Amino acid sequence: MSIPNKYLAELMERVIQRNPHEPEFHQAVREVLTSLSPVVDAHPEYMTEGVMDCLVEPERIIKFRVPWEDDQGKVHVNRGYRIQFNSAIGPYKGGLRFDPSVNESIIKFLGFEQVFKNSLTGLPIGGAKGGSDFTRKGKSDNEVMRFCQSFMSELSKYIGPDTDVPAGDIGVGAREIGFLFGQYKRLRNEFTGAITGKGLTYGGSLVRTEATGYGLCYFTENMLKDAGRSFEGATVLVSGSGNVATYACEKATQLGGKVVAMSDSNGYVYDPDGIDLAAVKQIKEQNRQRIKVYVDTHPKAQYHEGSSGIWQIPCHIALPCATQNELDGASAKALIANGCFAVAEGANMPSTPEAIEAFHQAGVLFAPAKAANAGGVAVSALEMSQNSMRLYWSFEEVDNHLKKIMGTLYGNVISAAQEYGMPHDLVAGANIAGFLKVANSMLAYGVV
Ligand code: NDP
Repeated sequence: MSIPNKYLAELMERVIQRNPHEPEFHQAVREVLTSLSPVVDAHPEYMTEGVMDCLVEPERIIKFRVPWEDDQGKVHVNRGYRIQFNSAIGPYKGGLRFDPSVNESIIKFLGFEQVFKNSLTGLPIGGAKGGSDFTRKGKSDNEVMRFCQSFMSELSKYIGPDTDVPAGDIGVGAREIGFLFGQYKRLRNEFTGAITGKGLTYGGSLVRTEATGYGLCYFTENMLKDAGRSFEGATVLVSGSGNVATYACEKATQLGGKVVAMSDSNGYVYDPDGIDLAAVKQIKEQNRQRIKVYVDTHPKAQYHEGSSGIWQIPCHIALPCATQNELDGASAKALIANGCFAVAEGANMPSTPEAIEAFHQAGVLFAPAKAANAGGVAVSALEMSQNSMRLYWSFEEVDNHLKKIMGTLYGNVISAAQEYGMPHDLVAGANIAGFLKVANSMLAYGVV
């Protein structure tokens, strides 16, 4: 993908030189700079005033040692990160990912994307991301607790309700958030909304657990409706079986779709009768088992090793909800050949550039992550509001806010795409709509 605007093309080269060996970060920046070319052509002040150069450089990178003791008394050392990317429109906000694949490139790409996503929600939140190369897999509750406490002992110095408010992501669910918030509260001696995704007994918001998956389906519903289609009667694939995947499956089913496959990092299950989500929740949320045990209790279902095979299953709608670059060009071609008419990203950057290009060429409706999975962070921001006001809203109230936010967000993405002459390109629309609010705030501050 070449970047049409010369200044932005040169900026991309500088990003590569200054951040070598960070392919995920390069991929995320390249996509945004490509989309922003017509904006910068029309408004050169974003170049001349340094906004574009600042946009691709994080405000702050925090990298730290996380020592912790296992149940046998052996000390392990992991690496922790928090990348505070941009606070032009509000306190930094973005999740924490605990996974062995975590490195500076991954956290930087996620933090960069978060800036635009948070802006798209229409709420006052800046962008950040953090995490560690720790995995909770195979660890006891006590080991996970000791790791989280050590991680927070350092992170607590840099966050706070008006500064930076982390949340969960891959490998950071309700249990980990409890350990992290408990340690934050103890160290700071304050009960404030410095983390979101909290349990309902200690400051959490209803619908936060469901928000990313539900929001994804609300966004997709809007996109389908504009094209004269709907979830009703559609066959749906959902990759992953974590937080986002689970609630995407739940809402897609409620909207009339039939989800026939889900996966984890080892393989996927195909159930022609439709996925039994209660069984998946039991396996993944409660028993912390592998998805393959699903077939033990569902004789008609099949398990296949290798998670990328899921895209070979015929479907109408694909919802990639696992991880970055899980859907490549070949998988996209298989989906298209099998009649898939819509793809909406629940995970961050799950489709490779080749896959996105193939979807656009084939006229497949394509909802990019920045817009489509923004429901999670939107409800996190609503959790922050409830914490500040010290009150709780009902499930229905928060769900209605979420629906409204995703509807408005969809409208803003479409308008931005239309304004810059790319009416069907939601990738460009999301990048442009997310950019404008952040960039105009940066311009207002002068050089800071
Ligand atoms: P979870 O840790 O809850 O779940 C991740 C799931 O993806 C697990 O089922 C995991 O399987 C599976 N997985 C990991 N790698 C692969 C792979 N290569 N192929 C297939 N499955 C895989 O994370 P979340 O659901 O929270 O996050 C999923 C994605 O959504 C991430 O990209 C995240 O950044 C994004 N996201 C999350 C938000 C949230 O609110 N949680 C908000 C916005 C975006 P296994 O059990 O084997 O590890």
